[in-house]
Amino acid sequence: MSTFRFHSGRLCLDFIATVGRRGSGPVERLETPADLARWFTEAGLTAPGSPAPAAGGPELRQARDLREAMYELFTACRLEREIPPEPLAVVNDWAARPAPAERLEAGPGNRLRRVPGEATAQTLLAGIARDAVDLLGGPLAGRVRECDLHPCTRLFLDTSRSGRRRWCSMDGCGARAKMAAYRARRAAREES
Ligand SMILES: [Zn+2]
Repeated sequence: MSTFRFHSGRLCLDFIATVGRRGSGPVERLETPADLARWFTEAGLTAPGSPAPAAGGPELRQARDLREAMYELFTACRLEREIPPEPLAVVNDWAARPAPAERLEAGPGNRLRRVPGEATAQTLLAGIARDAVDLLGGPLAGRVRECDLHPCTRLFLDTSRSGRRRWCSMDGCGARAKMAAYRARRAAREES
């Protein structure tokens, strides 16, 4: 069972990261519909204690389609390539789908309170697509980077003040990269 990690800085980027090592022999982490349901829960998209929305083969295919379309858009944007029309249409289509309708519930003291409606896999995917629209169409689009440590290559949002962050996480890939650089320097010193 794959372990999902959520440190890309944005929901849509964490979702894209359900394919690992994209630069070299990609690893699919959404292998089954149950993986997708588990991702929704671990991402905090379902209300605490409530079951993950039902997901089957069609939802898994839709999720992967949306994910790859988002990845292509982020990649085109990052590398300043021509925007591919098909992924653009896929992301826009998902972003236009409805969110779970809110509803009213009788609360204590004869008051009504607003609670989120029941989420489905489709409404959650739509929310992820809207996060991508917000990020790609906003001022932070230029801050999406690819982790410099191979084979990670995870996309992440660089929120550092300098805007020069190289790794998806400083204590994970960043620490490994620095250790590798240190070892390389030491080996070079020993050789000379
Ligand atoms: Zn990384």
